[in-house]
Amino acid sequence: MNILIVEDESEIAKLIQITLEREGFTCHSCRDGFTALQVFQQQQPDVIILDLMLPGLDGLEICARIRQKPGAKDPYILMLTAKGEEIDRVIGLSTGADDYMVKPFSPMELVARIRALLRRSLRHGGQSLIYRTKNFTLDPEQHLASRILPSGELETLDLTTLEFNLLTTFISQPGRVWNRSQLIDKLWGNDFFGDERVVDTHVARLRKKIEPDSANPIFVKTVIGVGYKFEDKE
Ligand code: CA
Repeated sequence: MNILIVEDESEIAKLIQITLEREGFTCHSCRDGFTALQVFQQQQPDVIILDLMLPGLDGLEICARIRQKPGAKDPYILMLTAKGEEIDRVIGLSTGADDYMVKPFSPMELVARIRALLRRSLRHGGQSLIYRTKNFTLDPEQHLASRILPSGELETLDLTTLEFNLLTTFISQPGRVWNRSQLIDKLWGNDFFGDERVVDTHVARLRKKIEPDSANPIFVKTVIGVGYKFEDKE
């Protein structure tokens, strides 16, 4: 998980970076608006922590430009404001920011907010529900599932409807353990008559399409004696 910190006050930037790196995030930081746009293009961060008042372009302008041309990843943007700055405009979120914090704030609160943003699949502005994990994005409305390549580019997965629904079920609740009858309820509802083991067949097919090595799955894991769970951690 890649985070770009755009903050001209070096003490605050350093504090944020140290805190986030301790939490396992990869961080880049820069101090002015033009550099921020360049680094954004190069690094394709998942999250941008964006100070409002900056030399060069200010936070609102950077936010607007990124939303106009998001690139492969449409990042979450968390805006930092000092008290008395144009908080109302930021809160209006017409800017495209996903969240904001008023300085001074506790670094751990910032971490909590970032984790919440990453968990949140329902974006502001009534956009459709899009699930993201470290390696996948999934848009149920568009019926589109993609793998996120290390370069940040998206590679569309060619899934059957059943496989797509299975992946959606998994991704909607990472870490949850599902037994076969729960998955059958999700996939077939009451129309299912047959052997529960049919779930295993579809899981095997899904694994072939999403796992680097389907014999040793790292995403859709078998929980012995129960069923399956999906994991995709940072
Ligand atoms: Ca500032």
